[in-house]
Amino acid sequence: MSGLFDEGRRLRVTLDGTLEHFQAHARALVRDGVRPGDVEFRDPTRAGDHGAAGLFGDAAPEPTPAPEGAPALALPRTLVRRLRTTSCYRDERVWRVLFSVLSRVARGERGLVDDPLDPDVVALERMEKDVRRDAHKMHAFVRFRRVEDPDARNGERFVAWYRPTHLICERESSFFRSRFPSMDWSILTPDRSAHWDGERVAFGPGAPREAAPDGDELEDLWCDYYASIFNPARVKLKAMAAEMPRKFWGTLPETRQLDALLADVPRRLEEMARTSRRRAESAAPFVPAGADLVGLGEALASCEGCELCRDGTRAVPGRGPAAARIALLGEQPGDSEERAGRPFVGPAGEVLDAALAAAGLHRGELYVTNAVKHFRHERRGKRRIHRRPTVEHVSRCQPWLDAELRALRAGGGGPAALVCLGVTAARAVFGPTERAPAPGSAPVARTSRYAPATLTTFHPAAILRAPDTATAEPMRAHIVETLRLAGAAATRAQL
Ligand code: URA
Repeated sequence: MSGLFDEGRRLRVTLDGTLEHFQAHARALVRDGVRPGDVEFRDPTRAGDHGAAGLFGDAAPEPTPAPEGAPALALPRTLVRRLRTTSCYRDERVWRVLFSVLSRVARGERGLVDDPLDPDVVALERMEKDVRRDAHKMHAFVRFRRVEDPDARNGERFVAWYRPTHLICERESSFFRSRFPSMDWSILTPDRSAHWDGERVAFGPGAPREAAPDGDELEDLWCDYYASIFNPARVKLKAMAAEMPRKFWGTLPETRQLDALLADVPRRLEEMARTSRRRAESAAPFVPAGADLVGLGEALASCEGCELCRDGTRAVPGRGPAAARIALLGEQPGDSEERAGRPFVGPAGEVLDAALAAAGLHRGELYVTNAVKHFRHERRGKRRIHRRPTVEHVSRCQPWLDAELRALRAGGGGPAALVCLGVTAARAVFGPTERAPAPGSAPVARTSRYAPATLTTFHPAAILRAPDTATAEPMRAHIVETLRLAGAAATRAQL
């Protein structure tokens, strides 16, 4: 039998904190058919608030001698790996969880760990995750300081002191060994220390904070670097404290300047805001001077002229030959256009294509673009719902339209006719007070700075939104007639 019985006739096993000691008991307990509920594990080395040291004060109980001769347990390799990782959890309750899981699997519950609702599995996963997270932090926050060490390979050793939450010093030494194989290093933690000499990692007892050296020229370099990458716009104190709890701050040289850096945040934010206001008044700074249509299309991808660039959508450039005699101007790309990266390829595009065919025009000969190059929308669940761009969006995007028209002029003299599809397009050309054509009105050609014959008609999407045919048909006819007039203007201009 593996331990002593308490008054409730439960076995009590006192562990010495090592996995090997636990394993020896676990094997014997499984061999003897002891159920998880019939055994209690004590571990004075990691008792914390809950365990034996708390109950017994300084007189912690002696470890129960390890039983010998119990056969090894046949467990899946991945489970063994998980149990090893979890065994670093700094709380004696971990042993009960490990024993429950391994004894149940050893007794035949092979699919146990695939049951996400089983309380033992839930506890195992939570503890394992916590240990992994702690390891991740250790990788990020260990800071070495150089000390003279005549016994080390280059006469120098790099020493770090670090306080992990869990007992991970030994486990994580392999990470540092593969990361820094060519320098001799020591990592000191309150529980254990690890020392690498180029050939093997030796483990020793824990060390107090004072055992690690403080300050050197590497540290100054690192502090300068940290100050230079510190981004005041990203300061999230809560998140920082969660990711880098204050208990670590003492060992991280860069955190010593945090107070000064944080005090400077308001001033630096204001400065950044001023700069970005200057930069993003319009798309102009992003438009390459003298670029052709291809160059404009490429540059458009990095436009930050307004906030629409931050919606995770891509900008959709105009499309068509540089020598086009007719240009069509829409409002903004829709969902399908943003996905395809081309204008008017969705439902409104189908209406437009039908109108072009009815007017005797071929899309391939036209230049088709939009007043606003990003898709303004709002998300509803998985759907992206169109939102009309504001006057401000139109005006910020205008430099692209200007540049496209310049490129068309350079490529073939510029369009003889420009058709504005909808009121947003018309406002991009004639100004923000421009109105939609009156129902039943005839299309009118006017001169604009973009083309000698500029006409405004309805947006093809208006046909799709129309409540009935009686409303849709006059609009459709207006679009077709406008396109026909544009075609006629282009032909006239060519003769
Ligand atoms: N609506 C527009 O205004 N432009 C497009 O490209 C597609 C739909």
